[in-house]
Amino acid sequence: MTDRRTELAANLATVEERIVAACVAAGRKREDLTLIVVTKTYPAEDVRILSELGVRHVAENRDQDAAPKAAACSDLPLSWHFVGQLQTNKVRSVVGYADVVQSVDRARLVTALSKEAVRTGREVGCLIQVALDAEQSAAGKAGLGARGGVGVEGVEELGALVAEAPGLRLDGLMTVAPLTGPYAGREQAAFERLMDLSTDLRRAHPAANMVSAGMSADLEQAVAAGATHVRVGTAVLGVRPRLG
Ligand SMILES: *Cc1c(COP(=O)(O)O)cnc(C)c1O
Repeated sequence: MTDRRTELAANLATVEERIVAACVAAGRKREDLTLIVVTKTYPAEDVRILSELGVRHVAENRDQDAAPKAAACSDLPLSWHFVGQLQTNKVRSVVGYADVVQSVDRARLVTALSKEAVRTGREVGCLIQVALDAEQSAAGKAGLGARGGVGVEGVEELGALVAEAPGLRLDGLMTVAPLTGPYAGREQAAFERLMDLSTDLRRAHPAANMVSAGMSADLEQAVAAGATHVRVGTAVLGVRPRLG
């Protein structure tokens, strides 16, 4: 094995141990959790190694990096998740490779994704990104959190819009633990709030059962809260260079 392959295999094994331990602690089954490896800023060669090591889901947050990487890896059995703030002028490119867009946070984006999905005959899975830092704040009225996402009060309406949009499939909810607001430093409480919102959403949309929460630093809290998907970058690939 190359050095990089050895390193990635060891990191993956450590993350797997953490997920298993968190599942045991929460009385959950390992197969109810999906690991998504966030490969942003790392090269296509790393994605290829991860695929060989058994990774099936990867995520990216910038189309400029993701598009060439996905093209270079199009022969691999991978699902691509887009998790970054998405401008409508990038939708055409993103729909070209993304199986799931986890960062749906506004009506205009739903319209653009739907139009492109229909045009290309693809079905795009969508998660509503919830901004928990926007809750009960002035930003909540505007609907957008500091790192993207729709405020809690906008989730139901946006979910309905996705569910009705041709070419789109409403898969569930996503959040990033907020750095500010009432949930700052309270990751598990934030993820439990997301679970409550998921319960509400599933009353109208029973199939929208994906709950994407938890990163390298807080995957245990996400598993404890009931997340179905964790998005892990640093703990698998290493600390990203600055500006990543
Ligand atoms: C970068 C990123 C992650 C992974 O974060 P790590 O701390 O490196 O595990 C997860 N989710 C989103 C939306 C990200 O942008």
